[in-house]
Amino acid sequence: METTNRQVVLKNRPTGMIAEDTTAVVESPVPEITDGQALVRVKYLSIDPTIRTWMDDAPGYLPPIGIDEVIRAGGAGEVVASKSSRYAVGDLVTGITGWQDYCIADEGMAAMSPAPADLDLATTLNVLGVTGMTAYFGLLDVGGLREGDVVVVSGAAGATGSAVGQIARLKGASKVIGIAGGAAKCAQLVEELGFDVAIDYKADNVGKRLHEEAPKGIDLYFDNVGGPILDACLANLAMRGRVVLCGAISGYNDAEHAFGPKNYTSLIIRRGRMEGFIILDYMGRWPEAQAVVAEWLREGVMHHSEHIVEGLEHAPEALNLLFTGGNTGKVLVKVS
Ligand code: NDP
Repeated sequence: METTNRQVVLKNRPTGMIAEDTTAVVESPVPEITDGQALVRVKYLSIDPTIRTWMDDAPGYLPPIGIDEVIRAGGAGEVVASKSSRYAVGDLVTGITGWQDYCIADEGMAAMSPAPADLDLATTLNVLGVTGMTAYFGLLDVGGLREGDVVVVSGAAGATGSAVGQIARLKGASKVIGIAGGAAKCAQLVEELGFDVAIDYKADNVGKRLHEEAPKGIDLYFDNVGGPILDACLANLAMRGRVVLCGAISGYNDAEHAFGPKNYTSLIIRRGRMEGFIILDYMGRWPEAQAVVAEWLREGVMHHSEHIVEGLEHAPEALNLLFTGGNTGKVLVKVS
């Protein structure tokens, strides 16, 4: 077994995109395990936009990553040594791994969960992990999707958005409209993922197109991006329309100058509601959603794709892909 653990640590807080000097790769010995612990060889990292927000020295739902600390991230790996009755060598597990080659699965605070035996780890991190769970509970629980709803989702060709649109379809939405950047992504939404309509926010007038496609208004808007797209959706809300605030990626690279909603008074006029959530609050209910999503996968009615970047050292570039829209599907880094 290797004796060196490569880690990507935070060196400087970024302004805007991740730059060359934001992170550094450092080497340390592979950690020793004590009773109740297992050593995990990381195989995949889940690259999530929220990692960028953790790099800022700003209040959030988790503390900022400290300078010289390993970049916090979810991931999956294989147990390669164990002093725990809970983990056996060869087990595949998911949890917080960090951007590194090896991490510790502890029976206590840093516990990791077994990965389903019949699905590959990349799929598990995508639709059965944070991404799929966010789509599921955000749409059904926070958004309270009802049969016949006109649903709009932004970041629609991304990991979360593509799952949201498909779940809306499976659960009886009358129309599913996706908003994404570029003709290729928009074509994919309609031709491969079953969206009724795709609006290219880089080429179209989003507000005008929403008015044409949802003349009676949007019943449920699942917001992944914030900014002007949120504004356009608010302006087109139906009576009693709901807005699920999942993410606001358009502002993560410049949190100081975040674009606030101008059209929020639509909520008054249309008796609407806007609510945010963090998926960690639903962890106790993940198994119920994972069972449903796993069944959709077995039936072949839920499509997913992974955008795999090879090599731990390329994790910073992988994170940047989310902000340039260079990804199609869930961004993962293959570590080993
Ligand atoms: P995605 O796979 O959707 O990748 C991000 C996408 O965002 C890009 O592909 C890009 O697509 C789009 N994007 C980037 N910048 C802009 C912009 N300025 N305006 C419009 N679109 C933009 O990432 P995830 O599925 O991992 O995350 C989607 C959202 O969900 C994020 O906001 C994330 O923070 C949030 N989230 C929230 C959670 C929660 O608990 N609340 C949990 C997990 C994720 P395009 O090419 O179309 O521009």
